[in-house]
Amino acid sequence: MYLPLYQRWISVFREGESWRCLRCGECCRRYAVELHEGEVERFQRDEVEILDNGRRRIKRRFDGFCIFYDEKKRICRIYENRPDSCRIFPFSILRKEVAEKMGINFDDRDIVEHRGKFFIIIYDEACLGIGKGEKQDRKKIVEECYNVALKFGFKF
Ligand code: SF4
Ligand code: SF4
Repeated sequence: MYLPLYQRWISVFREGESWRCLRCGECCRRYAVELHEGEVERFQRDEVEILDNGRRRIKRRFDGFCIFYDEKKRICRIYENRPDSCRIFPFSILRKEVAEKMGINFDDRDIVEHRGKFFIIIYDEACLGIGKGEKQDRKKIVEECYNVALKFGFKF
């Protein structure tokens, strides 16, 4: 799921906030799902699109939806094996220093420590599940986003 940062991540996910996936399918319609090296093998060749820069992503239908989204049942047909980008959506993390440079509004209570580094959690406002469901464990979110970022070769 790759769009320029400024178009996507515009709110800080703060302590005590809740989230639940409502299965609205908005993320499955809106974003192309990029695959990292470790998960490409799980997909058939005709399910994956190879971009000019060599990156690979799940193909989408003419209506924009991911080919694995079932609109009638409102489910992902490969939910148990969905790509890592889908697993962490709508969350992502930023190093505190990067967030400061970007002018993101946060304070000390928003910071989560992980492996000796300090992060804030940001989320995509397109997700309708923010504010619904149960309070989320922010340490767990940071850990999951961190691990996925590493798989994509990102260095914090
Ligand atoms: S946009 Fe949010 S609520 Fe809707 S399917 Fe995606 S993760 Fe779930
Ligand atoms: S793989 Fe599943 S969760 Fe991910 S975009 Fe496609 S339908 Fe949605």
